[in-house]
Amino acid sequence: MEILAFFAHPDDETILAGGTLALMSELGHNVHYLIATRGEGGECGDPPLCTRPELGKVREKETSAAVNALGGKSLTFLNYIDPVVGPQNELFSFVPEISPVLASLSQTIHQRNIEILISHGSNGEYGHPAHLTVYSTVKEFFRLNSLNLIWYTSQAYYSASQKPHLANKEDKADWVLDVSSVFERKLKAAQSHATQHALFVRRKKDELKREVKLEEVIASEESFRLAGGSQDILREVFSNKGYLKSIIN
Ligand SMILES: [Zn+2]
Repeated sequence: MEILAFFAHPDDETILAGGTLALMSELGHNVHYLIATRGEGGECGDPPLCTRPELGKVREKETSAAVNALGGKSLTFLNYIDPVVGPQNELFSFVPEISPVLASLSQTIHQRNIEILISHGSNGEYGHPAHLTVYSTVKEFFRLNSLNLIWYTSQAYYSASQKPHLANKEDKADWVLDVSSVFERKLKAAQSHATQHALFVRRKKDELKREVKLEEVIASEESFRLAGGSQDILREVFSNKGYLKSIIN
């Protein structure tokens, strides 16, 4: 199958769905990555690994290494510039309206004969406007097209979520996947995003009041909602392989 992972920033693919995408590659499917920005507005690292003007280029290389670690088939950036986080930690989208993003998404889906799309959830995980832009774009694509395409949103809600702060509260999980068999691949992908390591561990470090290793914050479960299309094809694929966990909601 041809699968498209469409996310707003470098590292979203790894943190939100990396295990699932790695598993799909291991099962012989072609996973293509479409990332809207190079994460120019994110952190440069602590201590900084580059200057602010260099960050986009650095994160492009990091993403390329992460996609390799996950066994991805291709990586494309949409070349939007990620706005810098505001002084009060305000987050911004990369585009004022979705129509140009929609045109690019449509082109990619047709060019690559995409059968399954994986994206951000309806709450933008923690309400990130750029994640919401990606979600709205895919939603609009489905409203306008009647292709035989399946759409899953990541970080769907279930009560035992390992990452409750990333769970999309309005997206009830249709299934939860045990990705521990590809944990090393997911960890390697997260390690590739070196500029973001301080960010990845910060929440847990503050909570536990000690140094935290990257492997302590990488989830071994990932959850999804079937957001578009009728056949829950990935549930069938993964349940046949014994990877699905029962959901307690
Ligand atoms: Zn993001």
